Amino acid sequence: MKPAEHVAAFGTTDGELRVGGMPLTRLAARVGSTPFFAYDRAQLDARVERLRAALPQRVELSFAMKANPMPAIVQHLARRVDRIDVASGLEMQAALDTEIRPERVSFAGPGKTPAEIRQAVAAGIIVEIESTTELRRVLAAGDDLGMTPRVAIRVNPDFAVKGSGMRMGGGPQQFGIDAEQVPDVLREYAGSGMDLLGFHVFAGSQNLNAEIIAEAQRRTVDLVTDLAAGLAGPLRYLNLGGGFGIPYTERDRPLDLDAVAASLHNLVDGQIAQRFPEASPVIELGRYLVGESGVYVTRVVDRKVSRGKTFLVVDGGMHHQLAASGNFGQAIRRNYPLVVGNRADAAGDQGVNVVGCLCTPLDLLGDDVELPPADIDDLIVIFQAGAYGLTASPTAFLGHPVPAEVLV
Ligand SMILES: *Cc1c(COP(=O)(O)O)cnc(C)c1O
Repeated sequence: MKPAEHVAAFGTTDGELRVGGMPLTRLAARVGSTPFFAYDRAQLDARVERLRAALPQRVELSFAMKANPMPAIVQHLARRVDRIDVASGLEMQAALDTEIRPERVSFAGPGKTPAEIRQAVAAGIIVEIESTTELRRVLAAGDDLGMTPRVAIRVNPDFAVKGSGMRMGGGPQQFGIDAEQVPDVLREYAGSGMDLLGFHVFAGSQNLNAEIIAEAQRRTVDLVTDLAAGLAGPLRYLNLGGGFGIPYTERDRPLDLDAVAASLHNLVDGQIAQRFPEASPVIELGRYLVGESGVYVTRVVDRKVSRGKTFLVVDGGMHHQLAASGNFGQAIRRNYPLVVGNRADAAGDQGVNVVGCLCTPLDLLGDDVELPPADIDDLIVIFQAGAYGLTASPTAFLGHPVPAEVLV
């Protein structure tokens, strides 16, 4: 998608980008300092509504809050989704502070400490088991607390999903229990004092190919159908993962949600309805829920020409928005969509480099981007900043102040 398409999604007023209904310079004045992250409530809501309209009614939406744990966002989404997935003790507390009930919070991720597991068991949330060590810790915590832990087994599938920005299943993994080991684990731990609800299969992240996502969902249901034969009771939890990607670069096309949904309707009405009448399938999403609603806004503090190349130096950078610099696991660095936000309607006329204020060449936010003439005090806006922004960036690097975050 081109930057102009992102501008159109937010809208403009007198040539200025509008975020949360406000022209950018007014929003910047209200926040009081740059850089900052702003998340647009209306866009968040529109995304949830779009998903609800497309996906089968029986499908439950879970928010993977590591994508954006800002408390206002978590509270806002908690009123709109069915579940929250957390990945640490702190995230668990934030989720438990919302109106989502504990039994609708799941805790995934490798390396859960005994203390975190105990906290999760005590709260009654679903612990998604990544190893037999975790299983033993959960059982010990249940014994100790006199409670029956609620558990799902995260399965490392015996298939890999192509086209994911980050692969998290198939082959050797730190995530989940290998599919071929699960039957033995179920036998060994049968009757061991936990409430084993079902399975979670998360194969990968940032996938823009609907057919590959649909195929992964079909194979996941096949896999769970095999594994569920080893459960004492009916399957009650079927977390199909997610992996829905968003278009970060000009080459990326948005995911065809309707194509994913059509395949999921078939699965839900067919195999899932027949085999798992007591399980609500869960789709777990991070960036697809929040990523496109957010912008990172940073101010030009210097403009210089070096051997014919114009550099706009901004007061933000990779210490806040690491992904936009291409250093968040990307194999190839490509520009994130970026505009001069207080002149969002103007056409680009020259290729400039937008660089952050860190003393490293890695701090490159825009490499030869076509921007309208821009100077000191102009506001540079980077789109697709609603997920894996502030909390996925090395904020302490060089000791600059932490930016504000606002939900508008
Ligand atoms: C990170 C993660 C997600 C969210 O991934 P997105 O690409 O942001 O949708 C979902 N589920 C699990 C288990 C994760 O680890």
